[in-house]
Amino acid sequence: MIRVENLTKRYGKHYALNDISFEIKEGEIVGLLGPNGAGKSTTMNILTGYLSATSGSACIDGINVLENPTEAKRKIGYLPEQPPLYHEMTVMEYLNFVYELKGCAFPREPHLAEIADVVKIRDVKDRLIGHLSKGYKQRVGIAAALVNAPPVLIFDEPTVGLDPQQIIEVRNLLRSLGRKHTIILSTHILPEVQAVCEKIIVIHHGHIIANEKTEDITREAESFDRFRLKICGPSSRDIRNALQTVNGVRHVEVLPGRDAESYAFLMECERGRDVRKPLFRLCADRDFAIIGLEPVGTDLEDIFVRLVEKAAKKEGKGARKK
Ligand code: ADP
Ligand code: MG
Repeated sequence: MIRVENLTKRYGKHYALNDISFEIKEGEIVGLLGPNGAGKSTTMNILTGYLSATSGSACIDGINVLENPTEAKRKIGYLPEQPPLYHEMTVMEYLNFVYELKGCAFPREPHLAEIADVVKIRDVKDRLIGHLSKGYKQRVGIAAALVNAPPVLIFDEPTVGLDPQQIIEVRNLLRSLGRKHTIILSTHILPEVQAVCEKIIVIHHGHIIANEKTEDITREAESFDRFRLKICGPSSRDIRNALQTVNGVRHVEVLPGRDAESYAFLMECERGRDVRKPLFRLCADRDFAIIGLEPVGTDLEDIFVRLVEKAAKKEGKGARKK
């Protein structure tokens, strides 16, 4: 349904996108995940025909976006990072305006009423957009993207700036839209893609560094437990070396947060193996005092670091082969 091949976008010497390729099949919900500046909005703006590419191609349902932007746009509903809402219009006035702008030919009233139902904005349909909460504004933006009944939906950071309750509601909405549409949404929040998407494309500095099923991307990160430790002892090196001898400990890192009497460490252990008892015994033997031990969750940053390291290793290997 969506096919991107060797897409590059350059601003002067800066590559916002550097030779990216991916494919999204009909009916898939795919997350484009990456930190700020990774190239997510650039990708989406090219896919939706709002930005030209330096080289490469992008096709939606077989139509080349760069050659036939008008035709391609008919296949797409787009929620940009900043949806162009008219604050002085009511919700229904705005949807009618979009309906005309897109030259739709559906029975207008029932069609717009159905969309208002789907995105749950019926109760605010006669309110001025400028008076709506951010969550409702986002729903109106999503409604606008649905007006031309497109098979493909492209949403740029759809939950950014929403409160936790609104985020849950928008996620549920995305999931329900996924039953009838092919969706690509961007986010810099890992739990978002985990909650909504079947596949994740990870983008970093304009490169795709992973394109996998959601569970495959998160499995690796979840296969170990991590703890933050504070330990008093002679030197951080001695403590670190000792910690590394404990069965089940995979990796120990010295953290910068040392205070007058203790050192801080990040310790990675095999999942399901409780290292705390041997750890306490070891420290007692060596006369180290554990004054802090807390589990640390895995966040997007860790996964990025891992993926970037993995990609760099691969590149290194490839370069050596040549
Ligand atoms: P994301 O949406 O992932 O945060 P963007 O796609 O907006 O990232 O940006 C990717 C990179 O391209 C960034 O380094 C950004 O600074 C750069 N960039 C985006 N738009 C422009 C522009 N109009 N001129 C120059 N650089 C740009
Ligand atoms: Mg962006």
